[in-house]
Amino acid sequence: MKLLFSPTTQHIAFGRAFYMKRDDLLHPQFSGNKARKLMHLLTNKPKNIETLIGYGSAQANSLYSLAALAELNGWRFEFYVDHIASFIKQSPRGNYAGALALGAKIVEISQQTEYEHLTCLEYIQDVRKPEKTSLLIPEGGRSCDAQYGVTLLAKEILSWINENKIKNPVIALPSGTGTTALYLHKYLSSYDIEVLTCACVGGNAYLIHQFKELGESEFPTILETEKKHHFGKLYREDFEIWQQLKQETDVEFDLLYDPYMWQCLKEWLPHHPDKNLIYVHQGGILGNQSMLPRYNRKFKKTNH
Ligand SMILES: *Cc1c(COP(=O)(O)O)cnc(C)c1O
Repeated sequence: MKLLFSPTTQHIAFGRAFYMKRDDLLHPQFSGNKARKLMHLLTNKPKNIETLIGYGSAQANSLYSLAALAELNGWRFEFYVDHIASFIKQSPRGNYAGALALGAKIVEISQQTEYEHLTCLEYIQDVRKPEKTSLLIPEGGRSCDAQYGVTLLAKEILSWINENKIKNPVIALPSGTGTTALYLHKYLSSYDIEVLTCACVGGNAYLIHQFKELGESEFPTILETEKKHHFGKLYREDFEIWQQLKQETDVEFDLLYDPYMWQCLKEWLPHHPDKNLIYVHQGGILGNQSMLPRYNRKFKKTNH
């Protein structure tokens, strides 16, 4: 099966025109940067695999993407989590509900008798003991194998830039593990196209450490704001910028990563008036179903 190219759309936000690479529209289920990072398993489907095994958070975007990949490849899928928040268990929604609907078996290891405070990876290795026909995926798809799919994304962006004769392009996307930003930078730097990112998880030092772990020595530009930003925490500024973006662009952004990148861009853009921003929408919209109720509970809906 072949996925179509994702479209690039044009918008205005904060008084500035920009373009957006819509990887959220790559495929109804298999979309966003997790799909890019896992693309090698779809294009070069490994032989003799029956079960895909993953682990991480019960609300992770990777949970849904792995479930979609397993479905597309005709594999069983097991996902190991430490615990599942009670409000998600009581009324399944978001990535968790989406993955269950695609047939995922989600194992909450803290509820198992063999638990003994093992990490998910230890549990999989010591208790689940994957057989030869199982394929174990590292958390968040952080792997050198991700380079294949992310390079395809870079090539799509580059040919769009050339076809549309975009002058002074600059690419921006928020980072978790930084895998996507790193491999975009790796490909696009030889065309003198700068990639901007920000560390949504664990700060700049952690992000640079992640880059180095992937064996690279040249990195994308890391932007930051003065205020420290903690992953998964709810910030009024994040919610407001997310609402404003939705209003101005008519596009729903992800609530975990995108707001911080836009805070950084709001400061960066006025200093770079000649640059043509191409923002990479990395998907993750299904995850908003579990984030939005938390935001609405904490900060009453503003009257937009
Ligand atoms: C996973 C994810 C990220 C972070 O991607 P990395 O390659 O780990 O940096 C950013 N945005 C969204 C929507 C994601 O799902």
